[in-house]
Amino acid sequence: DRTSREIDRRHVFYPWAAQARIEPVVVTGGAGARFTDDTGTSYLDFASQLVHANLGLQHPRLVAAVHRQADRLCTVSPNHATDVKAEAARLIAAHAPGDLDTVFFTTGGAEAVENAIRLARLHSGRHKILAAYRSYHGATAGAVTATGEPRRWASEPGIPGVVHFFGPYLYRSAFHAATEAQERDRALEHLEQVICFEGPDQVAAILLEPVVGTNGVLVPPDGYLAGVRELCDRYGILLIADEVMVGFGRVGEWFAVDAWNVVPDLLTFAKGVNSGYVPLGGVLLSPAIAGSFADHAYPGGLTYSGHPLACAVAAESVRVFEDDDIPARARQLGETVVAPALAKIAAAHPSVGEVRGRGLFWAIELVTDRDSRRMLVPYNASGPAAEPMVRVLAACKRRGVWPFTHFNRVQLAPPLIIDESDLAEGLAAVDEALAVADE
Ligand code: PMP
Repeated sequence: DRTSREIDRRHVFYPWAAQARIEPVVVTGGAGARFTDDTGTSYLDFASQLVHANLGLQHPRLVAAVHRQADRLCTVSPNHATDVKAEAARLIAAHAPGDLDTVFFTTGGAEAVENAIRLARLHSGRHKILAAYRSYHGATAGAVTATGEPRRWASEPGIPGVVHFFGPYLYRSAFHAATEAQERDRALEHLEQVICFEGPDQVAAILLEPVVGTNGVLVPPDGYLAGVRELCDRYGILLIADEVMVGFGRVGEWFAVDAWNVVPDLLTFAKGVNSGYVPLGGVLLSPAIAGSFADHAYPGGLTYSGHPLACAVAAESVRVFEDDDIPARARQLGETVVAPALAKIAAAHPSVGEVRGRGLFWAIELVTDRDSRRMLVPYNASGPAAEPMVRVLAACKRRGVWPFTHFNRVQLAPPLIIDESDLAEGLAAVDEALAVADE
């Protein structure tokens, strides 16, 4: 009966269900762009789990890579060299922006951000980090302090030296801009003022997501990232691009900065590097930063850095990206399938304030009405748990599609291997489900 089933569920979610409050499901399996729960219901995975399974679930080549490596060597000290670590680093560097060709492996995204911050501070001898509002960088001390959204509140006061600035977001412009170009120029002017008021010779790095992920799929106006790069060069500040969510094909490029030909000094990655089959993240370092540690060790010991199982899947994952031209595929599906479907959705639903995105990463921003642009749910510390987003989410799930939600947005991030008919089917389900938000 229902009661014992609920109790069952509580035990299944033991030790802690607080992360999965919204209609938690017990996942029993999956393949490609679909996963199944213990009631036999199948969902189209429009979230790529936590926007990380870029190659989908149970990809045969990735599963085989885990098996092969498990038979050879499951674990090793991070101080030893291995062929898989070298191969993964070589393949990642081959596709990394510009001259970023040294990889420091971590076990996830937050750790990558922590190490990028530390590397920037050690290399520059400065301590301040400028980070963007409307950002998510991870749940560890430094990464959560850099995070520019309400989930930071619970971890205040965080680490010293982090100062936030506003990036471009025309729909809710902090600068009262009317056009993308105006938004870009004013955002850059604002950033330069922040640099000057904080003391340029105290700022180690500017940390940003080139395309903001969790906090709204904010694609910057052309010229913005190049402008930030210029400011960094002018004031001797390092640029850290956090590509944990958008790297590895999500926005139709190997790395998001590639869309604007901007090369950061440090780039953090995780998630899509191996679709999370074995936890892995890392930092790509410029030759100048990598070289400055030539005669002394970097104090960043991590027992699982360069984990052989994780690196084996990463290497195979990059080969799949190459063989199947995954980034180009994502870009093309975004342009030909998602963009037109979302334009129709925006026209049909009064609750839709704006749709935006790139590649296979899109946001539908829900408002109480289009004129005021008031968010359907306000910012709060617990994310998408507030009504009526709960109902929107439930309506999606009833129709067999599982999107990613955050505050007032339904975000679409299907696996990059999804086929066109599944993509169209999921978009149609979202279209139907949004009727709930119009009420
Ligand atoms: N940076 C960004 C941009 C992210 O999206 C995330 C995770 N959503 C992180 C860092 C943290 O990564 P992890 O959860 O692997 O620690």
